[in-house]
Amino acid sequence: MSKLASAKRIIVKIGSALLVDQKTGAIKASWLDSLVDDVTDLKIGGADVILVSSGAIALGRRTLGLPKGKLKLDQSQAAAAVGQIALAQAWSEALRTRNIVAAQVLVTLQDTEERRRYLNARATLTTLLAQGAVPVINENDTVATSEIRYGDNDRLAARVASMMSGDVLVLLSDIDGLYSAPPNQKGATFISELREITPEVEAMAGKPISGVGSGGMITKIEAGKIALSAGCNMVIASGHEMHPLKRITVGARCTWFLAEASAMQSRKRWIAGTLQPVGKLIVDDGAKGALIKGKSLLPAGVKFVEGNFSRGDTVSVVLSDGIEFARGLVAYDATDAKRIAGLKSADIQKLLGNDVRDVIIHRDDLVMVGGERN
Ligand code: GLU
Repeated sequence: MSKLASAKRIIVKIGSALLVDQKTGAIKASWLDSLVDDVTDLKIGGADVILVSSGAIALGRRTLGLPKGKLKLDQSQAAAAVGQIALAQAWSEALRTRNIVAAQVLVTLQDTEERRRYLNARATLTTLLAQGAVPVINENDTVATSEIRYGDNDRLAARVASMMSGDVLVLLSDIDGLYSAPPNQKGATFISELREITPEVEAMAGKPISGVGSGGMITKIEAGKIALSAGCNMVIASGHEMHPLKRITVGARCTWFLAEASAMQSRKRWIAGTLQPVGKLIVDDGAKGALIKGKSLLPAGVKFVEGNFSRGDTVSVVLSDGIEFARGLVAYDATDAKRIAGLKSADIQKLLGNDVRDVIIHRDDLVMVGGERN
């Protein structure tokens, strides 16, 4: 089975040039329909699908009567405000004909970079996927200012793939993959697979070639770095033809970037290796036993809480001997963690109202250290 057909969680980035007709400024409806057919097939096959769709600026600029050529920041933000409505509507209608619910999610750079907002964004997306919906993500172009903007959806899609532990990130592009030199240059060869982004690979990335969209190969290589370090495979494929995802599954030419470790392994490595714990949860033996079995840490198993941390910070998990045996990203800040230590879910709800999470560290955010394994 192809790597795409066997993936459990797939993120697909659709560039403006594919979705919006450059001459008329309208959505290419039949192409969109063919893509949605492919998305439906992947979902029937059991995969979660998240779409990252560009096109708001390309759609809105004409409606607003803005000039051709490069827009100023405020102009593109105004265009995005208009175009995003049409974009979301097009996705929503196309998915609805296949009985799939679309969910619009507009994010800014901070939503994927700041730990607390990252956890919130992830929780929302996880709930949408669990309910069978297809999130349609774009940058919140109207509020993002230039310094805090992604500006391109290639990197945004890679961040989403990393945040959601995706198996495959598909970048549908106006080109079928990576070439050793600009494809129109003599001697340029096609690269069908790579496992590492070396300086040579970076040197292969040329300048943007399409008129709309802000991507180009450089941002795709940047996306590749983010995806690979998160353990997510990435594929660059042409979106010019109908059924662009099906084409990948049946072996159309494309460039695969293959990750060494799985998404979960990379995530655990990141938690174990790079993050400095800023607090401690002292737990009972029962909780330790559950964590060894791969379960999440529940507030009921926590005896004491030490330190001053925010939601999403890294904390150590210890028994009363104080020796760290696990560490993870904590779902409550220190004040609330202290209030709910030792309590069962029902009591926590009484104390905190609706803003309650069942676990204090989710198992995906937890890694055993110092000889313990989960
Ligand atoms: N967020 C922009 C839009 O929807 C597109 C960014 C990009 O071209 O990657 O128009």
